Amino acid sequence: MIIRSKLNELTSILTENNIEEPKLEASLLIRGALSLDDVQLYLKMNDELSSNELNEIDRRLETRLSGIPAAYILGYKEFFGRTFIVNENVLIPRPETETLIEDAIASFKGKKCRLLDVGTGSGVIGITLSLELPYADVTACDISDKALDTAKTNNEKLCGKVLYKKSDLLNDIDGKYDGILANLPYVPTSDIPDSHEPDLALDGGNDGLDVIRRLIPELPLKINRPGIIWLELAINQYQEVSALLRNVFPESLITPVKDLAGIDRFAKCEIK
Ligand code: GLN
Repeated sequence: MIIRSKLNELTSILTENNIEEPKLEASLLIRGALSLDDVQLYLKMNDELSSNELNEIDRRLETRLSGIPAAYILGYKEFFGRTFIVNENVLIPRPETETLIEDAIASFKGKKCRLLDVGTGSGVIGITLSLELPYADVTACDISDKALDTAKTNNEKLCGKVLYKKSDLLNDIDGKYDGILANLPYVPTSDIPDSHEPDLALDGGNDGLDVIRRLIPELPLKINRPGIIWLELAINQYQEVSALLRNVFPESLITPVKDLAGIDRFAKCEIK
C-alpha cells in the first residue's frame, strides 16, 4: 500500500471515530511512525509502505483511538513556531496561549525586565519569552518535578535562558518581577475531559478557580510597581477573577484579553 492510500484510510477511520481534524491527525500519525516532517511526507505520497511501517502506523492509530492525544504519541507539539517536547506529565500547549505571548512581547519588547511563569508545565511560556525578549530575565516554576524536568529539557533543546525553581505557586519564589504570567489549572472538575492530560494541570476544583484564588493574594508581594500580571482563564471566569484582582490591586487597570475565538481568555492587571 502507498502512503497516500494509508493516509486516506486513516482519515476515514478517524472521521468515523469523531476525532477532530482527522486529516491532520492522520498525517501526524504517519509522520510520527515514519519519522518524516510535513514536506518529506508530501514528497513520499506515492512510496510503498513496508509491512513493518504499516504495523507501526496501525499501532499508533490504535493508541490514538484509545484516547491518547496525537501530541503525546508524537512526543512533541508546535507552539509559537517552535517544537516543544510533551509527555503525559504536562499539559499540551494550546494555541490560545500564544495570544498571551503576543501581549507580553508587546509590553516588554526591548526592555530589561524580570518575568515569572507560574506553573510552567512543558515550559512554553517562559522559554518562548526568553527567546523572544532577549533583555528579559525569565524565571519559571512548577510544583511538579516531572513537569520541571520536561521544561528544563525544552529549555536546553531550544537554547532558552530560563531559570527553574520548584515551588507551589509563589511559596518558594524570591524577589519581585515586572511581569507575572500564569496558565494554572482552571477547568471545573466536572468539565475535565478524558484527555489523558494530568489533572494537576487542568483541575481547578468546583468552579475551576481554586488555584487562581490561592495565587491572587500572593501576587502583591512578588510584583514590581509598575508591573503586569496575566492569568489565563476559561470562558466565563473573567468577571470573578477581575473582582478578586481588584481586591488586592485596587488602583490597577484590569482588562480582558481575548483569544482568537473572541473569548475573554486572560485577565490582565496593570499595576502603576
Ligand atoms: N485550555 C485548557 C483546556 O481547556 C485548560 C488549561 C488549563 O487548565 N490551564 O483544556
